[in-house]
Amino acid sequence: MTYARITILVENTVRDRGLLAEHGLAFWIERGSTLILFDTGQGQALRGNAWKLGIPLQLADAVILSHGHYDHTGGLRDALDMARDAFVFAHPAAFAPKYARNTDGTARAIGIPQLDERAVRDRARLTWVHGPRQICEGLHLTGPVPRLTDFEDTGGAFFADEVCLRPDELPDDQAAFLETSAGTVVILGCAHAGVINTLRYVRHLTDHRPIHTVIGGMHLISAGENRMRRTVEELRRLEVKQLLPMHCTGFDAAARLWREFPGRCLSCPVGGRIDLSP
Ligand SMILES: [Zn+2]
Ligand SMILES: [Zn+2]
Repeated sequence: MTYARITILVENTVRDRGLLAEHGLAFWIERGSTLILFDTGQGQALRGNAWKLGIPLQLADAVILSHGHYDHTGGLRDALDMARDAFVFAHPAAFAPKYARNTDGTARAIGIPQLDERAVRDRARLTWVHGPRQICEGLHLTGPVPRLTDFEDTGGAFFADEVCLRPDELPDDQAAFLETSAGTVVILGCAHAGVINTLRYVRHLTDHRPIHTVIGGMHLISAGENRMRRTVEELRRLEVKQLLPMHCTGFDAAARLWREFPGRCLSCPVGGRIDLSP
């Protein structure tokens, strides 16, 4: 019988002995016999955590990049050194230069480190994602998410150039979703397209089936009151049963979600596992 399980390989928090936390995100997704690495963290924690948790990275059928930021792509070289011949699913913009503006006006590079597109092609079967697509039975990628809400943005001062003139709208941002008997499980990287835009798009792609669980980074770390209030309203309207706000959701926003949705939020440190009925 097909089953689905998500294991948190890299996250900002950790509880168990011998595992490492870092600012980043990586999930190990098992769907039946298909093994998928969704994001890779910054690169310091991935290999060690996988080893400690008994996760066979070398058997990954596919590596999905939610977007090109270093805290999701820094472990890609390690992952591909182990998982030879895996498919890599990404939007082309994931490989574009990416910068964040510092408070003093200077910029720092925050794009994919170590590997360029060619190096990835040398090691893996790089597949561009331009729109929604199936990865295996019951697991899909959204591809680029339409930005339709009037209260969401990319969540930070992100730029495509070093002098911070061209804003980076993160067109590469995408989410994955699993179909289960309880409803859809949405797996977010950073949700730079906006968590509500992403969830609405997933509903659109799944014939408006109910969303059961949302797990991952919601990038509400610098969200103002209006965005937070509207986000909470929309999550309530969507009747999401289970929320696992992680990584770049930010402490304030996560605390707010825990307060607004009592009994429905779960903490998710490195090593956490979610078993899903197929
Ligand atoms: Zn990001
Ligand atoms: Zn991130």
